[in-house]
Amino acid sequence: MQYVFGEQVFTRAAMQQRLPEKIYRRLIRIIDERAPLDPGAADVLANAMKDWAVEQGATHFAHWFQPLTGCTAEKHTSFVTPTGEGESMLIFSGTDLYHGEPDASSFPSGSLRESFEARGYTVWDYTSPVFVKHDGRSVTMFIPSAFYSYAGDALDYKTPLLRSNEALNRQAVRVLRALGDTSTQRVEATLGVEQEYFLVDHRFLRERLDLRETGRTLFGQPTPKGMAMSVHYFGSLHERAASFMSELNEELWKLGISAKTQHNEISPCQFELAPVFEGVNVATDHNQLIMHVLRKIAARHDLACLLHAKPFASLGGSGKHINWSMQTNRGVNLLEPGETPHDNELFLVFLVAVIAAVDRHAGLIQASVADAGNDLRLGAMEAPPAILSVFLGEQLGKIFQQLARGRAKRARKSEAIELGVRSLPPLPRDLADRNRTSPFAFTGNRFEFRTPGSEASTAWPAFVLNTVVAESLRHIADELEKADDPASAAQKILGRLVRKHGRIIFNGDNYSEAWREEADRRGLPCLEDSVQAVAEMSSRETITLFSRSGVLSREELAARVDTAFAHYAQDLLIEARTAVRIVGRQILPAAMEFSHHLAAAKQAVEQAGVGARPHGQLLGEVCEHLDQLHRGMEKAAGAIAEVEQVDDPGQRAALARDHLLPALDRLRQTVDALELVVDARLWPLSTYDEILFKG
Ligand code: ADP
Ligand code: MG
Repeated sequence: MQYVFGEQVFTRAAMQQRLPEKIYRRLIRIIDERAPLDPGAADVLANAMKDWAVEQGATHFAHWFQPLTGCTAEKHTSFVTPTGEGESMLIFSGTDLYHGEPDASSFPSGSLRESFEARGYTVWDYTSPVFVKHDGRSVTMFIPSAFYSYAGDALDYKTPLLRSNEALNRQAVRVLRALGDTSTQRVEATLGVEQEYFLVDHRFLRERLDLRETGRTLFGQPTPKGMAMSVHYFGSLHERAASFMSELNEELWKLGISAKTQHNEISPCQFELAPVFEGVNVATDHNQLIMHVLRKIAARHDLACLLHAKPFASLGGSGKHINWSMQTNRGVNLLEPGETPHDNELFLVFLVAVIAAVDRHAGLIQASVADAGNDLRLGAMEAPPAILSVFLGEQLGKIFQQLARGRAKRARKSEAIELGVRSLPPLPRDLADRNRTSPFAFTGNRFEFRTPGSEASTAWPAFVLNTVVAESLRHIADELEKADDPASAAQKILGRLVRKHGRIIFNGDNYSEAWREEADRRGLPCLEDSVQAVAEMSSRETITLFSRSGVLSREELAARVDTAFAHYAQDLLIEARTAVRIVGRQILPAAMEFSHHLAAAKQAVEQAGVGARPHGQLLGEVCEHLDQLHRGMEKAAGAIAEVEQVDDPGQRAALARDHLLPALDRLRQTVDALELVVDARLWPLSTYDEILFKG
């Protein structure tokens, strides 16, 4: 291998190499204890960092942050500082490292805007490593940062994520202490992110306005094969994709991102990449980088990486499964059941805390992954439905039932699976089978939340999970701390929580109609679309939850609600404008030209004294579609104007859902019907078959 893992990262090893031993030790202590950095140490550190980055070819540094757009943002500043006549020095001070001040006025800030000047500040998050990145000829040192306003409100996703991790830490350590653990210093959430994506030839992005503007195809008939035979899933990698992945991995490894597994996914041209899990904050930064590098390397291979949650109707969409757990500073996974889970009190307490949290805040958890793109994916037969439930599997399910009745006494032992081939060794059977239909599944020693869409930032769902579980642990800690006998108090709490929240457990087929009815009987919320889901974020419980745990103030939460609504309406507006443009400028003219050919052919055939029944019939059909399409376009244009007039973000989102979605649907139906009858030589859009199989 030509490169070194993490060579573009200012790691602890790099720090140790470049700093006086005493300062290095002081800094490590500060970082491990999450203490404030003193200015003296910051200057020394900044200088060492600059030397390191300059040796790597960097000319600039940039605070790198995650505004409410859901993407990352960066403002580059050169190290070069003029010192007099034609002279300059490379300067990077502790203050440069610590603080940045990008103009914040153009970032979404929801309702915080009134109380907020254009000023925005970035501040270094030293818990995520500084790295150098090459973009073309430019080499820049990136400083992961939080972003906040003049008034001190968080304007980003990182700040609440960091706060939620602290809240989780506080409450988890309280529970551990109450149950007799005297040594654990810290607990943090861990996150392993499976990233799905599509790769298509870049030419299709150039050809299709919808792919370019909206990231998905607004029109297109399924191919005859559709998903009928999933030969692609785990199939052997196509050379073009394999070469892409090879370069992608190299780039990610240099950035210290452990791209670990890769494979073909279920749809044609769909793939997945998963790194090894890390602390939730670094994992979130790394996922942002993964999405960036995916797109960048794709372009180098003349490919386009589609991260939309549903680029092709009728094909499976792309998700971002987030594997979540809690880990102590000594590396103990608190959701590890061990050999005898029924006896493992700590495990059961943490497991049940998560389950209770998911049941109490199912709506909020759904809201954390709500967006217009994901709505198209959820509820289809390949993605989690709109109802949140937890899969536990057989063994834990049984333990759960025993807990509800009193105490867990037994656990099914794992047995070996005999394969019936002497040369193959027997396999240990996992304690639970997998349930691919579950949105929130316990997968052995962690939960896998499968609802997030592929483009979403993991910060949102992660800080919501951290917060709701912290809250659940807080209740448990309050009780345990008061009890004379914490062990028997824990048993009582477990029994009570299991009885109360058992309704969220579902091990069956989440796609079935029967589950919808059952969920309804159990009183579980079914949030059909993002507008309904986001509305959950404004509930009194959610406001209390976030403010009590110190994760988001009421205003900060309101800003995120407004931004989510605005985002939703914006996405649909862009789609509708794009659809109208494609219909008006490409589909209508093509269909009209075809009708003209048909009419001319009909006339010619009839003049020749032959019957032209097919010509007439087809012409009638095309003209009927044309008429519908023209009306549909006018209706869509009207709906766009209507939505554009509304200012209130919630109302705008609801109106977009109610008027733009049906308008888009109608246009699609007609265009797709035309695709089947119009002469292929006249059809102006590349078809699904061309995009998926001829790239
Ligand atoms: P799957 O079989 O579900 O597709 P993958 O191997 O693709 O699994 O991804 C599983 C992900 O879960 C990996 O990123 C892995 O590192 C992560 N993971 C494993 N253990 C934990 C844990 N304790 N906390 C968080 N994530 C974890
Ligand atoms: Mg996977």
